[in-house]
Amino acid sequence: MNAPAPQPLVFHANRPGQDVAVRLAKVVSGAVMADAASCARYATDASIYQVQPLAILVPASDDDVRAATEVCTALGVPIIARGAGSSQCGQTVGAGLVIDHSKHLNRVVAFDASAQTVTVEPGIVLDELNGWLRKHGLWFPVDVSTSAQATLGGMAGNNSCGSRSLYYGNMVHNVAALDVRLADGTEARFGPERDMNDAPPRVRELVAALRSIGEREHDEIARVVPRVMRRVGGYNADVFNPQSERPYTADGSVNLAHLLVGSEGTLAWTRTLTLSLAPLPRHRALGVVNFGSLHAAMAATSELVALGPSAVELVDRTMIDLARSNPSFRPVIERALVGEPDAILLVEFTGDDAPATLRRLDDLEDVLANHGLERHLVKVPLAAEQKSLWDVRKAGLNIMMSLRGDGKPVSFIEDCAVPLAHLAEYVDRLTEIFRRHGTRGTWYAHASVGTLHVRPILDMRRDGAQKMRAIAEEASAIVREYKGAYSGEHGDGLVRSEWVAWQFGPRLTRAFEAIKDLFDPAGVMNPGKIVRPSRMDDASLFRFPPAHRTLALHTGLDWTAWDVQNDPRTGALSPPGSGGDPAHGFAKAVEMCNNNGHCRKFDAGTMCPSYRVTRDEIHLTRGRANTLRHALSGALGPSVASTAVRDALDLCVGCKGCRRECPTGVDMARMKIEFQYQWQREHGVPLRDRLLAYLPRWASLAARVAPLLNLRNRSPALAALMERPTGIAAARSLPQWRRDPFARQSAATDANADVVLLIDTFTRYFEPENADSALQVLRAAGFSVAIAAPMPADASRPLCCGRTFLAHGLVDEARREAKRMIDALVPHVRRGAAIVGLEPSCLLTLRDEFLVLGLGDAARELAGRAMLIEEFLAREQAGGRLTLALDALPERRALVHGHCHQKAFDVAGHVVTALRWIPGLDVEMVESGCCGMAGAFGYGVDHYDVSMRMAELSLLPAVRNAPADTLIVADGTSCRHQIADGTRNDRRRDAVHAIRVLARALPAAARDGATTTVAHSR
Ligand SMILES: Cc1cc2nc3c(=O)[nH]c(=O)nc-3n(C[C@H](O)[C@H](O)[C@H](O)COP(=O)(O)OP(=O)(O)OC[C@H]3O[C@@H](n4cnc5c(N)ncnc54)[C@H](O)[C@@H]3O)c2cc1C
Ligand code: SF4
Ligand code: SF4
Repeated sequence: MNAPAPQPLVFHANRPGQDVAVRLAKVVSGAVMADAASCARYATDASIYQVQPLAILVPASDDDVRAATEVCTALGVPIIARGAGSSQCGQTVGAGLVIDHSKHLNRVVAFDASAQTVTVEPGIVLDELNGWLRKHGLWFPVDVSTSAQATLGGMAGNNSCGSRSLYYGNMVHNVAALDVRLADGTEARFGPERDMNDAPPRVRELVAALRSIGEREHDEIARVVPRVMRRVGGYNADVFNPQSERPYTADGSVNLAHLLVGSEGTLAWTRTLTLSLAPLPRHRALGVVNFGSLHAAMAATSELVALGPSAVELVDRTMIDLARSNPSFRPVIERALVGEPDAILLVEFTGDDAPATLRRLDDLEDVLANHGLERHLVKVPLAAEQKSLWDVRKAGLNIMMSLRGDGKPVSFIEDCAVPLAHLAEYVDRLTEIFRRHGTRGTWYAHASVGTLHVRPILDMRRDGAQKMRAIAEEASAIVREYKGAYSGEHGDGLVRSEWVAWQFGPRLTRAFEAIKDLFDPAGVMNPGKIVRPSRMDDASLFRFPPAHRTLALHTGLDWTAWDVQNDPRTGALSPPGSGGDPAHGFAKAVEMCNNNGHCRKFDAGTMCPSYRVTRDEIHLTRGRANTLRHALSGALGPSVASTAVRDALDLCVGCKGCRRECPTGVDMARMKIEFQYQWQREHGVPLRDRLLAYLPRWASLAARVAPLLNLRNRSPALAALMERPTGIAAARSLPQWRRDPFARQSAATDANADVVLLIDTFTRYFEPENADSALQVLRAAGFSVAIAAPMPADASRPLCCGRTFLAHGLVDEARREAKRMIDALVPHVRRGAAIVGLEPSCLLTLRDEFLVLGLGDAARELAGRAMLIEEFLAREQAGGRLTLALDALPERRALVHGHCHQKAFDVAGHVVTALRWIPGLDVEMVESGCCGMAGAFGYGVDHYDVSMRMAELSLLPAVRNAPADTLIVADGTSCRHQIADGTRNDRRRDAVHAIRVLARALPAAARDGATTTVAHSR
């Protein structure tokens, strides 16, 4: 819902899309791109396919789309509509003009509360729409797993279906009307047939011709269209003779919008959608039934469906195990398990009356008791716990895709729908087919409607294509035997359009072609989908064709953990470094991005701040991974260190949000370090980067001339003067150098201290009082503390984690620092001391990048004992080893902003835990993403604006809204700086490190008498 911003034209003179790009640029105000890297970013969706588009348009308005349609029709260039690009079958992939409407065409156009309808533009995301509707007590109930990304235009394009389709139906059951534009520019509303008499003549003729096809094919429709609710393949010609288990319309009349739903952008462009809404369910109750076998779960499904639930969803053993291995899902899934089940069914009931809804779980229990299974039921009455479990289920596919190696779970028979009576047998037979083909599948999802998701593991670079066809043929025979639907959720695209003829027979296939020709005689609307398709195993369309190559690379970081292959039968991985990647695992790590688009989210969490503020594919984790993947294959030039990749990574703030939140673990922050390393090797290190990277080395000198350096903050003229040579935004204040840096290393040595305190560069030179506070608190808690110090032979400068070097790609220098740190601290680790730090990005480097610098077991030992101070205190408290007396403070509230790296390592909660020890202090964590400062990022003149926009997403508004007597707590140096900078023009708020708050709460006696020792190892 952003206001359109002026967009640049980006194209490359030699690209084939130049013609269309040049003509478009003259007539549209949105962004037109035809350069190789932009096309690469739009060449894939969440399928196995990849086709380079000719050009991309991000329209600023519907007028842009109108103009683009004219240009494309005149030039005969295919038009490929695209929302989030999360289709699994290759629907949005093609050699034409890709029109991405997700950035600007995303408004609510009209809302009628009494009729319970809403009209929206196609780019609005389902979660955003439902967020908007919440205040009206309504929602749009087609709750796809990708609700945080999927656009309504894309959902209609695919006839998407949610987990609760049993209760609410698919898209086709919930779309009231579509305002569309045909390829020849005709605009019309498609809705109830009886309302279309006023349509333009071209449309009236079209409707009449459609009706005559419908009448002609009346019997054939009844003969071949599967009678299941989950049938989304082909065109919905059955609007004229409905076959869906659930009627399309209440009175059986024809609604021509329903013919367009599921047409995958092949018939018309959707300008707006009018949707039927449902009242928000008032109460839900969830029961998790644990089964000893998948077969037993499937056999029980129809009996459970008879209880009238709103959803029955399957999660199998493999997925349970994968969820358990994910730190954020483990506690949630474990609460739902009874013993070690082979499968669980999530059975949900919905109702208006809370006690009555809860009682439905008793009914469930009674049914289970008939089978001796009552103790295998876990009741989940609370909404928050239900949501967490649904989140695990929704992440199912993504969790599954985290398998490393070239063999991946491939989507091609992933949503066949069979009648419930055959479900158990279907699963058994398909499992046997997989076994015969040397693979296996993981089962999950919509048991209630007979649509089970399963993806056999195939290696598309080797024998995957042959196996895919063989399995598809055998699976289809079973689906036919059971009178099921071959595509029950994800549509046709490139992988299944070939199967439309198989499913619907030659006669209806010809009717589909006739329908296509009526709408789009020139064949420009997303050609090759649904009708006149290519083969599913046409390797020239694969993302990883057999000829896929990777540039050889000498990497700075150790990526060998990704350089592996897997055994498709067991999932077991070969040893690190054995995967055959010429880029030593870097390419395979990049290829972990399967394009599912989960990073396009706006809900809670951190990922991906640069996308959240720009909504540009280039500034999205997925866009970056696609750019890198193409670069590593040589498609963007002979070297990975290209400006195309640099541009894509430019706004990546290294927040590590993706490291934690990307379901397949794409760690773009680390990839950026690797890229910077490659860049520096080829292009050298600019002076500005060198200055910032080497800050820990020159900081002691700077401290000596602190007053001089600090002048810059007091003189706007000086700041402006220095902007150009330094690249630092004049609008930024700089951290204040201290003349009294923390310098107590000269005190006594204590090689037996319980805690070795790491003083990072920022604490040392800018806020030494944080270190003093840490000492006070640790001592007051009874710990002996030593300050981490280098080995005596190497004592010319303090220890440093190397973060600033890593941030600028100076990996070798960072490795040198890491080695010094390991040499100095591992002896303390071995005698059992805790290594405790204050600055999240510094301390957590020991747990993250140190492990990929090739420093062996010693690095792992250090990582195992390195903790942030609140984490250490919380751990000691949980172990009953902490005695810390704290007094109440004058302030009664504290608002905590977690540093991104704290969140990435799931340790931000310890800050809240520790602050809550202060009597009477009400502590709240801000639901904030990255503060936007991210080390040196936000200081740059080229990043200042985007940095402030990131802060304004949630952090700064929350800080501004906090009552004046609220303590603002942020452990990150740069977060504190951003908060001060971002509030300086109104009511300036200064944030403090949590340890300062704890130190203030110490009784006066405990605060005094801190003496310091220094930790040297001998
Ligand atoms: C992890 C994962 C989980 C998924 N879970 C589900 C699920 O639970 N249920 C489900 O149904 N699907 C699911 N999908 C598939 C996919 O997310 C949905 O189909 C989704 O609705 C697609 O939305 P989108 O915005 O990404 O559409 P896109 O992929 O961008 O487009 C989908 C189709 O619509 C067409 N289209 C888009 N906009 C227009 C327009 N303005 N005019 C005409 N045609 C247009 C496109 O050309 C394309 O053919 C899942 C996918 C993934 C990766
Ligand atoms: S980066 Fe991760 S979340 Fe984003 S599309 Fe790729 S796999 Fe999905
Ligand atoms: S590190 Fe942060 S900014 Fe960079 S891609 Fe990941 S989530 Fe986005």
